Amino acid sequence: MKIALVAHDKKKAEMVEFMVKYEAVFQPYSLYATGTTGKRIMEATNLEIHLLKSGPLGGDQQIGSLIAMGDLDLIFFFRDPLTAQPHEPDISALLRLCDVYGIPLATNQSTATLLVQALEIGWLLK
Ligand code: PGA
Repeated sequence: MKIALVAHDKKKAEMVEFMVKYEAVFQPYSLYATGTTGKRIMEATNLEIHLLKSGPLGGDQQIGSLIAMGDLDLIFFFRDPLTAQPHEPDISALLRLCDVYGIPLATNQSTATLLVQALEIGWLLK
């Protein structure tokens, strides 16, 4: 199971708190994250994360590429819906690829909690 993690700037604290809370659930999996999100999570946990580029520098596209290659199973993407992002086209492309390939995608903490609980009880085994 390979999991990608992304959080926009105003959602990074929320993502870090989420990952601290569910660190043990994520521990067995291969984790990927955009640069700053991944660094923040690694500073707060003992999780090993493959760091991609920062989102605005191509990180979202790298995640999209992993999806297209069949190399990603689940995405936690804490989006900030109230702030314009310079890389909006990359974000739209990533969300589109999730739908093209049927990849489970959590874009807010409520959905993320449901997905992580599904991971916890083994519903999303791979
Ligand atoms: P970041 O990228 O984790 O490098 O900040 C995420 C984003 O802002 O799209």
